[in-house]
Amino acid sequence: MFRHPRREWPDPGSSTTPLGGLRWRIALPYVALILVATLGLTVYISNQVRQVRLDDLEAQLLADARLLAGTVAPLLQDGTDLGALDEMARSWAASLEGRVTIIGADGIVLGESHEDRTQMDNHLHRPEVQLALSDGQGSSMRYSATLGYEMMYAAVPIETDEGQVLGTMRVALPLGEIEANASRLRHEIMLAGLGVALVAALLAVVVAGRTTEPVRQLTGVAERMAAGDLDARQFPTSRDEVGQLTRAFNHMADRIREQVTTLAEERGRLAAVLDHMADGVLITDGNGQVELINAAAARLLDTSEERALGHSFAQVAPYHPLIEIWKACRERGEEQVEMVEVSRHGLFLQAIITPFGYTTSQDRQDRAQGADGEGYLVILQDLTRVRRLETVRRDFISNISHELRTPLAGLKALVDTLRGGAIKDRPAAKRFLKRMDAEVDTLTQMVEELLELSRIESGQAPLRMAPTPVNEVVVPPVDRLRPQAERAGVEFTVLLPPELPPVLADVERARLVLTNLMHNAVKFTPPGGQITVGARPAGEDVTISVQDTGVGIPADDLPRIFERFYKADRARSGGGTGLGLAIAKHIVQGHGGRIWAESVEGEGSTFFFTLPVATGR
Ligand code: ADP
Repeated sequence: MFRHPRREWPDPGSSTTPLGGLRWRIALPYVALILVATLGLTVYISNQVRQVRLDDLEAQLLADARLLAGTVAPLLQDGTDLGALDEMARSWAASLEGRVTIIGADGIVLGESHEDRTQMDNHLHRPEVQLALSDGQGSSMRYSATLGYEMMYAAVPIETDEGQVLGTMRVALPLGEIEANASRLRHEIMLAGLGVALVAALLAVVVAGRTTEPVRQLTGVAERMAAGDLDARQFPTSRDEVGQLTRAFNHMADRIREQVTTLAEERGRLAAVLDHMADGVLITDGNGQVELINAAAARLLDTSEERALGHSFAQVAPYHPLIEIWKACRERGEEQVEMVEVSRHGLFLQAIITPFGYTTSQDRQDRAQGADGEGYLVILQDLTRVRRLETVRRDFISNISHELRTPLAGLKALVDTLRGGAIKDRPAAKRFLKRMDAEVDTLTQMVEELLELSRIESGQAPLRMAPTPVNEVVVPPVDRLRPQAERAGVEFTVLLPPELPPVLADVERARLVLTNLMHNAVKFTPPGGQITVGARPAGEDVTISVQDTGVGIPADDLPRIFERFYKADRARSGGGTGLGLAIAKHIVQGHGGRIWAESVEGEGSTFFFTLPVATGR
């Protein structure tokens, strides 16, 4: 019955991608941090180790230099055998696996293990020599252009026992090995660090995965709920934030299910109300598309819910006046009430079309711009029956006026004739008075019938029920109408089976029913016809019938002849009021019975009515 516009949410994609992303978002910073920390630590440690090695080397070189300086000092003091200095330097250098240089106080190289000292420049301004002379020891690291690699130089002054400086003893070692050691060490530390970093990163990924797992599961549950499984839940497995989230989620899910159930119930109730309403209800959106239609509206518009929903109002209700009312409602923005005749289906509808969804002037502006969110409520009230009753009532008034006028005109004419002198003609006056009497009887009969019907309809005429033999109901009316039937050239037959049970009836009224039926039979049967009155037991009832060979009743009129004032054949029904059958129906129903007619046009009609069998007597 309902059609609702669906709100489209962006597709969250597959459940693995975004949560995999969350897992990596958590893990990656840790992995990066671990790698940077390991790298930093590696660089720091290997630098420290190198420095310690260099410090050791420096201390060792200084100690060696001091030892050699002590040995060489007496030779320099004597100044005797300077030529042997080169040789000494070479032998020391060999045992130290380094380079030994003996420098005089003036900076001239006096002994050298690896070079030709005569080719060497003055060494007084070498940094280590300067430091040795000023501070008592000195060292320096630099690239030796002569040897082609990095060296560490350490120098101490050569002094006499009295403290006189005779020169400088310098010992040097190539740094290559230390650097090689340091770089090997750095590699090893780096490798170890990398291993640790890898393990730590792996751990970070696993931990992140485990942390986000419940969130992933929760997403799965949410997706199941979105797909309609409102009972999907997840058990909280921890007391942490994720556990709290799970509990909050479950609580929310419970509330959603409650609300969905309540909404569904309310919707069901509303749908039931709408579907059982006698009035047609239809809702269109702002553009005229049908969003709701109830059973009554579908019936009145000769469509079905499936054919109507989602289609335009003009397609669903293809009646020009209805479409015009809808358009007027949209243009004016206010309720429109109008009568519409749908002649194709013989319907007479009151259409009430109301705009809804707009309350403020801004809303009206929005509507003028064709914004959606508005709608129109179309209510169709079926006034066909009311209208028909109205027509019948109007017909009756004109009919009854006509019927009253005929005897009144007769009376007036008779009075005028009497006044004009006929009153003096005694036999004529008597005849006129008799006719006047007859006219007054007709009028009285008509008024009586009207009063009787009004009494029965308003329930002011209680039935006096008593067990009654059927022939007491049937015979008196037959006797009463027999002269009239004979005058009309119609033959009466009564067929009553001997063993009929008595009926429970108000005998006067039951006779009235039969009188009315037989009266009609006589009236609508041409001379030479046959009228048969019969009765037969039928279960708890006795069915009484009046059959004629008259003009019959058109099939279209048959269902309506029991309505008040209805006349199928106006020309023939003559003086009838159209009340006889209505009175009969009320009386029979008052007895708890049924009354109906069968007829073939041109061949005759049979009227039946039932009266209950008087039980227990
Ligand atoms: P009326 O006073 O016009 O007879 P009724 O209520 O008795 O009013 O009957 C209603 C209409 O039913 C009649 O006008 C007539 O058209 C039709 N009708 C009733 N009885 C018969 C009948 N036996 N044969 C044909 N038509 C009948």
